[in-house]
Order: sequence, then C-alpha cells, then structure tokens
Amino acid sequence: MHLIIAEKNISANRIAQILAGNEKVRASKDGNVSAYSFDTKTVVGLKGHVVEVDFEPGYTNWRSEVHTPRSLIDAGTIKKPTEKKIVGLIQKLSKKAELVTIATDFDTEGELIGKEAYELVRAVNPTVRINRARFSAITPPEIRSAFENLAELDFALAAAGEARQAVDLMWGASLTRFISLAARRGGKNILSVGRVQSPTLAMIVEREREIESFVPQTYWMLSLATEKDGMPVEARHTAGRFTDHDAALAAEVGTKEPLVVTDVKEGQKTDRAPTPFDTTTFIVAASRLGLSAANAMRIAEDLYMNGYISYPRTDNTVYPKSLNLNGILDTLKGGVFDADVTWVQKNRRPVPTRGKKESTDHPPIHPAGAATREALGPDRWKVYELVVRRFLATLSPDATWTTTKCLFDASGQPYTATGGRLISSGWRRIYPYSEAKENVLPAFVPGEKLPIKNVNLEEKQTQPPARYSQSRLIQVMEELGLGTKSTRHEVIGKLISRRYVEGNPLRPTLVGRAVIDALDNHAETITEPEMTRTLEEHMQLIKQSQRSRDDVIAESREMLHRVFDGLEAHEKEIGEEIMEQTAEEHTVGPCPVCGQDLRIRHIGVSQFIGCTGYPECRFNISLPGSTWGKAIRTEEVCEKHGLAHVRLIRKGSPPWTIGCPLCSHIASNVEALRMMPSMTDDLMQRLHAHHIYTVSEIAGMQPRELAKAAGVDAGEAARLTDEAEGALEILRRRSELRKFVRKVVPPRKGRSHAKIIRSLLDQGVGDIRALARAEPAVVKKAGIGDAGAAELLGAARGLCNERALREAGVPAVSLKKYQAGGVGSPDDFCYLPIPYLASKTGINPETVHKHVDLVCRHLGRPVPEKITRAALERGRKELLEVPGIGEATVDRLYLAGIYDAATLREADPEKVASITGIARARLHDYISHLK
Ligand SMILES: [Zn+2]
Ligand SMILES: [Zn+2]
Repeated sequence: MHLIIAEKNISANRIAQILAGNEKVRASKDGNVSAYSFDTKTVVGLKGHVVEVDFEPGYTNWRSEVHTPRSLIDAGTIKKPTEKKIVGLIQKLSKKAELVTIATDFDTEGELIGKEAYELVRAVNPTVRINRARFSAITPPEIRSAFENLAELDFALAAAGEARQAVDLMWGASLTRFISLAARRGGKNILSVGRVQSPTLAMIVEREREIESFVPQTYWMLSLATEKDGMPVEARHTAGRFTDHDAALAAEVGTKEPLVVTDVKEGQKTDRAPTPFDTTTFIVAASRLGLSAANAMRIAEDLYMNGYISYPRTDNTVYPKSLNLNGILDTLKGGVFDADVTWVQKNRRPVPTRGKKESTDHPPIHPAGAATREALGPDRWKVYELVVRRFLATLSPDATWTTTKCLFDASGQPYTATGGRLISSGWRRIYPYSEAKENVLPAFVPGEKLPIKNVNLEEKQTQPPARYSQSRLIQVMEELGLGTKSTRHEVIGKLISRRYVEGNPLRPTLVGRAVIDALDNHAETITEPEMTRTLEEHMQLIKQSQRSRDDVIAESREMLHRVFDGLEAHEKEIGEEIMEQTAEEHTVGPCPVCGQDLRIRHIGVSQFIGCTGYPECRFNISLPGSTWGKAIRTEEVCEKHGLAHVRLIRKGSPPWTIGCPLCSHIASNVEALRMMPSMTDDLMQRLHAHHIYTVSEIAGMQPRELAKAAGVDAGEAARLTDEAEGALEILRRRSELRKFVRKVVPPRKGRSHAKIIRSLLDQGVGDIRALARAEPAVVKKAGIGDAGAAELLGAARGLCNERALREAGVPAVSLKKYQAGGVGSPDDFCYLPIPYLASKTGINPETVHKHVDLVCRHLGRPVPEKITRAALERGRKELLEVPGIGEATVDRLYLAGIYDAATLREADPEKVASITGIARARLHDYISHLK
C-alpha cells in the first residue's frame, strides 16, 4: 500500500480525486478521520500540526519556587499529539505501508508538518521508504507532475521551522509568565508577550505616541479660479505651502489680472501594469475590498485547497519560467472572464510584469482553476476575481497618459495647473480596483489672457502620521523582517484578541501601552525588531544548512537570559508600572456626586460602575451583565459629564456601545420617573441637579433630604416618596412579567421577547396578574400563536393561583398535593366540597377544612362546615352499603357535597345529576333505598 499524507482533509480528498483519474475513489472513515483510497493508494489529511511542542511535565504551576519563569528558558520540551485520532490512523496505516509520500504544503511550516508526520511513521515502521511531493497549486497538472517527480523531505527546511517553534515557545512562555506574575495578572487576564507580537505592538504604540505628541503647524494654500470656453480651471500658486501668513497675504493681494498663460508643456506618462501578487500585496489589495488580513488569508487558503488559486503564502513576485501562463489563460476562457482573456491574448505585453522579490519556493499567487460566482458565493468570489484580474493585469500592456502642465502669471504672481488624460487604458480596463482620475485642461496658448474669477487663500494644518491599517502594518512588518508571510496576519489577530489593540486603523489599548512601556524601560530587546529579524536571518542559514538548529536555539537562549537579568532586577517596578497604568483602563471619570474616580467593576458575571469613594459615596450605575459582553472604557469622553464612553465587547459579536454611562443611565430612567404622577420636567431637572436619577433613589430618601433636593415642602416630599414606591412596584411587576414571558415563550427567529412585552404593555397588561386575566386575543396580538397563547395564559393563571393560595396561608407542601389532585385555583377551595378535596388529594379532611377556611376568609367568602375524618369514613361506609354505589360513585357524589347517608337522603336528584353526571333514575333509586 502507498500511503499519502496531505496537510488537510480537504486537500487529501482533492489529491486523491486527481491522482485516481477515471478510477473511483472510495472514502472511508476510521474514528471520524477520513481516508481516500483507490488502486493501491490511500490518502489521509492532517489538520496542519497534529502534535504540539510543550514543556516537560512539572512546569504548569506558575507560582512554583523552583520552576520560575526564567527556568522555562532551559526547560526540556516534548512533542505530544493534539489530534489523537489522526495520529492513530496514520500509524495504523503506516505499519502496512510499502511507501509513504508526504504531500503537505510546500513552505517552512508545511515541511515541519511533514517532518512531524515522518516521525509518526518512523515510530511504528523504521524501514518504510518515505518521500515528498511538492506543489504550488492543487490542480491536476501540478499534482500529477509533483507525483511524477517525487523528492526527499527537506530536513534543513523543517529544522528552520523547528528552531522558530522552540524559540517562540521559550520566549513567549517565559516572558508571558514573568510579566503576568509581576503585574499580578492571572487566568483570562494574563499579559502575553511574544517574539514577533511584542515588537509589532511596540510599533503601534510608538505611532500612537507620535500622534499624541504631534504639534500641528498652520500653513496656507493659495489658488485662483479661471476659465476658458466655459471650462472652469483651478490653478495653484507655485509656492505650494506658505508657512508665513504675511507672505501668503501679500501673494493673495498681488494676484491681479491680467492673468497670462506663460508656458504650456505637454508630455506622456507611462502607468505601469501592477506586479504579480505575493502575500503582502494581496492582503493590501484585499483590504481595499473591505476584507481584514485574517479574512483575506482564510478565504485565499480555502480557494487554494479547492484548486481555484495557487498557494497564497508566497514571497515571490516574479512568475517562474516553468509557470504555464498560456495554460492558465486557457483555463479562464469560456467563463465570466472570456472577453477579458481574449483581449489580453490579443494585446499581451511581451513579458509579464515582475516585482522586486524573487524566490524559488512558490510562484506568485495566480488563478489555478475556473470558477463561477454561484459556486463560490460572494466573499470567495470577490477574492477569486481579484486574483484573476490581477493575473490578467500583469500580462496586459501599460496604460499611457498625456500630461499637460501650464504656467500662468498674475501680475507677477506665478501659478500652475496640471492635467492628465488617459489615452490608452491598457491594464486598467482589466483591473478596476485602482481609480484613474482624469483632469482635462482646455487648450491654452502661451500669451493668451484669461479672467480671474476668484482668488482663494485657504488655511490648513499639518496632519499627524496616520494610524496603521492592518494591511499597512503587514507591509511595515515585512519591511522590518517581523514575522513571515504565513504568520503576520495571525500576529495582528492575536494582538486584537488579547485586547492590546483595537479599531481599524489600529489603536493600542491602555493595557497594550502599559506592557510596551514597561518592556521598553527594562527590556528593549523584546520590543525592538532587531532580535526577531536576526532570528529570521538565522533561519535562512539553517535552511541553507549553514547553521544548525540547536546552535540557533542556544544563541536565542543566551539572549533571553540576558533579557531576564534586566527584568528580574526590576520585577517590582515593572509590576507597579503596569498596574498603575492599567487601573486607568477601568477609570471612567469623575463621580458626579463627590468628584472622586468612577471605575468599572466586575464581580462574577455582574458589572457596574462604582465610585472609588465608596462607602462614603454610594453613587453607582448598573451595567448589563457580562454575558452581554465585558465592559471597557473607550477613548471618547462625554462633553457634559466628562466621563469616558463605555462599550461591551464579546468575542464573535459586534460591540455594544453604551456611550456615556451617565447619559445612558439618565435616559434609561426617564420613563420610570415619568410614571410618578407629580413628576414634571422642572422637578426632574432639579432632581438631576442633585444627582438623583432613579425612582429607587427617591423611594429610599428621607423626606427632609428629598424636600431639600426637590425644593418642595415636607408633605409634598412624602407624597413623592409614596409615588416613587408605587412606580417601583409597577416596574418590579413589569420586570417579573418580562422574566416570565422569557421563561415560558420559547425563543424563535423573527419573534423578539422585547416586542411581545412592548405589545402587552401597550394593551394594558403590565404584570402577570393582568396576563392571567387577559383574553387570548390580547396575547395573539402580541405575536404569539394559538397554542402558545393558551400555554402562556395557562402558565400565568397557574402562577397567580399558586401565589394567591400561598398568600392565603396554604403551606407549600400541601399546595403540591392539591395541584397534583387537579385543585389549582382559590375558587376551587371555596366551591368544591371538602370531602371531594380530601379524597382527591389524600389530605386529612380536617386539614383541608383548615386550608379552605384560610382561603375563604382571605377572599371574604363564607366558610363551609367542618367535617371530621371519622364522620367522613363512617359516611363512606354508609354510602357503599347502598346497592349500586361503588367507590367511583362515592367520589362523584363527593363532588355534589354528598358524603353520607344523611346528605344523600336530603339531596335534590335534579341538581346532583347535573353536578355529578350520575343518571337521575339511579339517584332516585339510591335515595328511595335509604328512605
Ligand atoms: Zn462618588
Ligand atoms: Zn454624559
């Protein structure tokens, strides 16, 4: 058997289909892992890495005295399987394999993954031949050619990957532990530090500092408006930016007619067709289509796995000679791009464009297969089309422009205007992603005089440098040698998910700044690109077998020890610096009551904004629970209250912006305040001025205090307190109704609980009691169907009944027995005879009487007579002696209050028949028997 190991399941399947040709591929599953077989071959996909490197056991305790953060530098490592089922299947198949081919992606990471598979095979089969297939696209020609030219695993390339893995683990784990412990952070709040991550974060922080310390300079731009043949033209003063206001004013005053054309220069400009895509230029272009770096790469990898485009992780911007450009054009013919391909074939430039970077591992990103919009869906199509159009553009002729530059003289003041006209659109007709702005000037003749319509002096300010967009950052990382084509977008993703940076363009958070500041002060090496760039260079040397993996790791280890010398000496300072700065992260601004800091507090799942002056100052603002997202402050500040805006963030959902917490607090309480009958706008303003925002605050105040705050007399204040209590009670019942509806009505798409509640409130149903009494039509109007309405009303009634009975004093234990016997409402207690209640529930009749007594008194109804247990038992015997009366009939007679011979004798057969359903004739028989 020939075992082929691919990088992923999806590529395993495609490789099998391609190699099988016309033969049918049998897919089978073993422990949920798919294998694809044909002929004597079986293809299995990995899941990228299926083993991970971790420290030897014993290093998991962060607070261990022996295994300090520094000790991780020299700690031994082990490889352990992360995908046990895949590892199991690979080893099972390896035992009987006669040949194993590694067909993982062709780059450092892929080679390392391949080497991991190699080791798994070797562990169970020390002699089997293992070779390597290398390809840049999962297309039939590429795959077939790779399997016709099988090579050996490149251990030097894999060793470079291993070195990076080991160094990253060592740096990341030891530094993350050290910094987190110093700043007393644990669990989800650890402060991660990384070899590539930290210098990248440092760049973002540095840019923010530049922006903050930027002092804008004022300058002036002078322009004039003229026209010829009805065409308006704007000309700019040749001085460009005036930094001296007086000089600008003098030039403005000096600008007078006659305006004379002094020179007209015409020229031609070549607009070069774009160069082939490498990973970075691809990410930049995709970001213009609104895709984040991570998203663009995820989609590109998907397209690669499915054979639509070539391998998207590449540094190459030059098509290799071996790449069949004509073949790719042929593949694209006949589809959506047919007209474009035909045009390119007719007008093709002699040699394709080429970029500055040339490498041999992969070609630039190019289309590999034909696709349709329907098959790919909108986002994948967007990326595929970009790759196709870019490829076509690199084969298209340059665009050409004619340019015009005119010089004017306005009584001694020199002006200029430039124009451009596209004369041959070339590649631009294929690649519409960058706009070509034409500006056509009228045909000016030197010496001709023109009118001055307007002179315009504009005051402007120099702008601070821009924050990095994700794609710009990836470009800079590449320039600085930070990370690789495969990891850069992942590093940025990590910075975002660890809440070190936020927004687009990227901005550091306070924690991000705090960590970088502390590292900058005590361990520059970690934040500077130098160290990480050196490692990239060393990795190149490992790939070329000029240095050994162990040697490079040892050097890095040495460097890290020196970093720790600096860090350990200042551990306390570092911790304090970070803690001081991150406390600010939770500080929202001044308390409106006492002026001390308001801070976001998290206690379990609940979170609120509280005053640091607590307990002297009890001011606080409640926030939605953290299941809605963790509350963080933002940079925006409320002008009215001086408080930072607050936002709830939750992984995987868009942030919920609360805005100024106090504004939001006030707004969400206005409706409740208006529920107080005496509330007026004026009164509300007075209360707000005294920092009283909620009805519960008013309800809890001393009348004298309230009188002072509201500017009313004591009697009025007492009334306000009562009204506030009333409003609170209504609110409490509403919230109870809300919870109840949420519990009973199952969530369903297109039906919001909020909408149901709103509709119920609008129809006057404000609490569960009102709901219990409501007509089904009311509930249905709120958007609930027949069955749901019946269920909701039934549940509401049940709950109300239970409450009324509890209120009357029926104990909970007995209540359960009554409910089990089908006795639920207070009315049942008042109208059903005691013998019936007792027999239905198995409760002693004397106890039943006690309960009936409680309920009837509570409802103001007459209390029936007591029946003793003995009387009931005797009566039952008497009844059973009557011919024709059995147990079942006795129970039915109970319903009519008949429980012994005497009560039966006195009964009105007509009435008893209607209550019990026993035939009148039979009742007559029973009664006459007794008489
Ligand atoms: Zn306060
Ligand atoms: Zn505000």
